[in-house]
Amino acid sequence: MDKDTGKLLQFDRQHIWHPYTSIDNPLEVFLVESADGVRIRLEDGRELIDGMASWWSVIHGYNNPELTRTLREQAGRLAHVMFGGLTHRPAIDLARLLIEIVPQGLRRVFFCDSGSVAVEVAMKMAIQYSYAQGDAGKNRFLTIRSGYHGDTFHAMSVCDPTTGMHQIYQGVLPQYFFADTPACRFSDAWREEDIHSFRQLLTEHHHSICAVILEPIVQGAGGMRFYHPEYLRRVRTLCDEFAVLLIADEIATGFGRSGKLFGCDHAGISPDILCLGKALTGGYMTLAAVLATEKVGHVISQGEPGVFMHGPTFMANALACSVAVRSIQLLLESNWQENIARIECGLRQGLEPCRTLPGVIDVRVLGAIGVVELAVAVNMARIQKLFIAHGVWIRPFGRLVYVMPPYVITDEDLSTLTRALCRVVEMEFPK
Ligand code: PMP
Repeated sequence: MDKDTGKLLQFDRQHIWHPYTSIDNPLEVFLVESADGVRIRLEDGRELIDGMASWWSVIHGYNNPELTRTLREQAGRLAHVMFGGLTHRPAIDLARLLIEIVPQGLRRVFFCDSGSVAVEVAMKMAIQYSYAQGDAGKNRFLTIRSGYHGDTFHAMSVCDPTTGMHQIYQGVLPQYFFADTPACRFSDAWREEDIHSFRQLLTEHHHSICAVILEPIVQGAGGMRFYHPEYLRRVRTLCDEFAVLLIADEIATGFGRSGKLFGCDHAGISPDILCLGKALTGGYMTLAAVLATEKVGHVISQGEPGVFMHGPTFMANALACSVAVRSIQLLLESNWQENIARIECGLRQGLEPCRTLPGVIDVRVLGAIGVVELAVAVNMARIQKLFIAHGVWIRPFGRLVYVMPPYVITDEDLSTLTRALCRVVEMEFPK
């Protein structure tokens, strides 16, 4: 490590708080010099094949020439302008594109800053929808265990109370309803009893529930689980039966990751409110969108107070919107379905050897997501170093070692990535 790198890392260690990290005993961080395609280049010259797509977001790889050019051009025209009373072409183009590609019926677009904020916005919409109909007491939420919806307060209140990383806030969080985790896996035969807990909670409490919120098909940070599409169809039907809105949090699943453009597409359903984020800008910067049906929009607007009470400073940031438009165009112009199927196949083959390793209790793959579930939590500091020594960037959490690489990964790099994953798991849990 040269002197400069050492100094930078020392400053970082002394002054910068990293995610989910202790100040007194921080995990090691690695200084990134640049990134291109699926390669992250460290300051010391080492190159890592990226298995994380920077937490689901960098779908077209780093430093994508098209996205970078779009960003430069937009910066020369208009980087940002307040969205109250003003609008701009990038926001309009993005809204038009989103309305075309999301599940049917979602025609009102609200832009905001990040995934967690999108969840807050969606939940506020649901509360305001009931309020506008004179039913202010119908203001609680039903969700499913093993879910994850973000780190802000109301988002925390619908994260899994145990695996959702927010246990210590339980005392100050509103208490909502949690149905059992769907047990029926994506490709299992459907079992009717899987929906019982959800149905029971909704039947008992629907008078006080304004909306159901869940991640469609793929539960991400709350457990990396893939559940049966029939579950989602049943949820949709039950929400209609009990006049409860359905909020689909597609912040992680959106834009092809699970093999369909959106998780809801596996079940052929449309939610009343949809949250998008992460890959929306191809991972270039933060932006989220909440889409709602005309009905949700009109009910909110016709009741008291007649407007939706939210409006962040950086709403519809023009740089982010323009990059998002180009990112979605790139995706749609590509042969993305075949490409995700190729990655799925590579992940299945590449992770299969893990299945018989000591310490591994499950291996599962859906779309461009591969998960190796271990019996015990990893030693993060040690395993991170091992992955780097093997030339890959994989960041597990708890008992889950998982990859969701940028879609531009080649077969060869994918094979290096999965081989490294298997090898490191084998080293961590020797026979
Ligand atoms: N919802 C889901 C399903 C997520 O995976 C995440 C991020 N991990 C969020 C919401 C929160 O998004 P953000 O980190 O952009 O606030």
